[in-house]
Amino acid sequence: MTKKYGKGTECIHGGYEAKKGEPRVLPIIQSTTFLYENSDQMAKLFDLEEEGYFYSRLANPTVDAVAKKIATLEGGVAALMTSSGQAANLFAVLNICEAGDHIVASTSIYGGTFNLFSVTMKKFGISCTFVDQDASEEEIGKAFLPNTKVLFAETISNPTVNVLDIEKFARIAHSHQVPLIVDNTFATPIHCRPIEWGADIVTHSTSKYMDGHGVSVGGCVVDSGNFDWKAVAEKYPGLTQPDDSYHGITYVEKFGKMAYITKATAQLMRDLGSTMSPQNAFYVNFGLETLHLRMKRHSENAQKVAEYLNSNEKVAWVRYSGLKTDAAYELGQKYFPNGSCGVLAFGLKGGRDVSIQFMDSLKLASIATHVADSQTCLLHPASHTHRQMSEEQLLEAGVSPDLIRLSVGIEDAEDLIADLEEAFKKI
Ligand SMILES: *Cc1c(COP(=O)(O)O)cnc(C)c1O
Repeated sequence: MTKKYGKGTECIHGGYEAKKGEPRVLPIIQSTTFLYENSDQMAKLFDLEEEGYFYSRLANPTVDAVAKKIATLEGGVAALMTSSGQAANLFAVLNICEAGDHIVASTSIYGGTFNLFSVTMKKFGISCTFVDQDASEEEIGKAFLPNTKVLFAETISNPTVNVLDIEKFARIAHSHQVPLIVDNTFATPIHCRPIEWGADIVTHSTSKYMDGHGVSVGGCVVDSGNFDWKAVAEKYPGLTQPDDSYHGITYVEKFGKMAYITKATAQLMRDLGSTMSPQNAFYVNFGLETLHLRMKRHSENAQKVAEYLNSNEKVAWVRYSGLKTDAAYELGQKYFPNGSCGVLAFGLKGGRDVSIQFMDSLKLASIATHVADSQTCLLHPASHTHRQMSEEQLLEAGVSPDLIRLSVGIEDAEDLIADLEEAFKKI
C-alpha cells in the first residue's frame, strides 16, 4: 500500500496486496525452498545482490507480509519476524553487540528478558547494568560505559505494568550515542508507537496481543531506520565494516536505512535460525486483523476491573496507569491517551497465602503463564514466572511477593467482576 491509511485499515490490509486471480486472504506458503531458472539468478540472491526467496529460514512470503504489516503499524522501515519474543530481544541486541560489549536495561522488564540479559548474554561476553527507569537522567546516565551499545526498556513493563518515559529514555540513549530499544509488547502500536517518541528499534512478543488468542509463539524486531550508525561507526563495526561472510559488503553502505534489519536477517537468522514458521505467521496475521478492535476492548475491560479492585477493601494496592491514583497516570495519559492494555497488577491484604487461595477460587479467570490474549488469566509471578529470581532481585524488579498479574480478556466485564466478587467471598 503506498497510500497512508489509519491503523485499523493497516491491520486489515497492510503487508499483503492480492493481484488478479491471487488469494484474497494471505496464503500460507508452506515451502522451505523456492525455484529459479538458472544458477546465476540464485547466486545473486546469495550475494544479496537481488531480493527474492530461496530458503524459508531466511525469508518466506507469508512471514514477510506479516513483518511488513507490523513495520507499517509501528511506523518503521522494516521488520524481522522471529520464532519467539525471546529470540526478538536476543536478535535486537546481538545485531549490534558482541563479546566485550555492555548494555543498560531497565530493571522493570519481563522475567525472561531479565534472565537473557543477566545470565545467558553474560556467557556470550555481553554484560548488562540494570537501572531504575524512574530515576533521573543523570542517575541513569551513570550506568553508561565506553563500551555501552544499547539502552533497553519496555513501554509497559511485564508484570509490574510500570510506564516508561520513552522521551526521557531516548534522550539518555542519544546523549550517549546508542540506540534505544523498546519492547512494545503490551501497548502494541495501536496504543503507542515508541518510534514517534524517539525509540530507534521496537521489539515484540507476538505471542501476546498481536496473536491475541494464545495459539502461536512468535516475535518481531522493527527498525525505525533513524539511528545514524555511520556517525558512530567505530561503535558498530558489524554494520559499518565489511562483512567477510558476504564478500565484504558493508551493510550501511549497501542498504542505507535497511541496514539493521538486512544484517539481522542475512547474518543472525542465517546463522542462528530462530525463524517464524509460515503457519505461525498466518495466525499472527489473523490476530493482527482485529488488533485495533481487541486492544480497545482489553483496555476498557481492564479499566473497569481496575476500578472495581481499587474500591475493594480486601485489596491492598492496584497498579494500572488508567487509574487517576496510579503513579504512572500522567505518563500513561501522555503516551497512550486512548487506552493502554488489558494487564494490571494488584496485591491482596494478608499476603501470599491469601493470594493463592483467592486465585484458586476463581472460575472464569484461569491460572495461566500466558498473558495478553482474549481469555482472562492471572498469575503470581513470585511463585511462577519469576521463581528463578532471588527475593532481592524480585524487589529490585518491583515485583513484590504479593503481586498478582491479571490479564483482562475480552469477555463481558460484568462477568469478570462477578467472578472476582465470588472469589473475594472465599478469603
Ligand atoms: C512474553 C514476553 C516476552 C517473551 O516472548 P515469548 O514470545 O514468550 O518468547 C518478551 N517481552 C515481553 C514484554 C513479554 O511479555
